[in-house]
Amino acid sequence: MSQLIHSKDKGLMEKQDDSIKCNICGYHIKQSEITSAYLSGRISLTQRID
Ligand SMILES: [Zn+2]
Repeated sequence: MSQLIHSKDKGLMEKQDDSIKCNICGYHIKQSEITSAYLSGRISLTQRID
């Protein structure tokens, strides 16, 4: 399962009601902004290994 990661500090982007939030620094974006944030490199996808 893919996880969204905050590129700056590798924090896990946790799902909130209508946004996602970094569990390290508190950076958050709206769900609708995920695509543009991903394309601009602010967040990235990683493969979860468990
Ligand atoms: Zn962060």
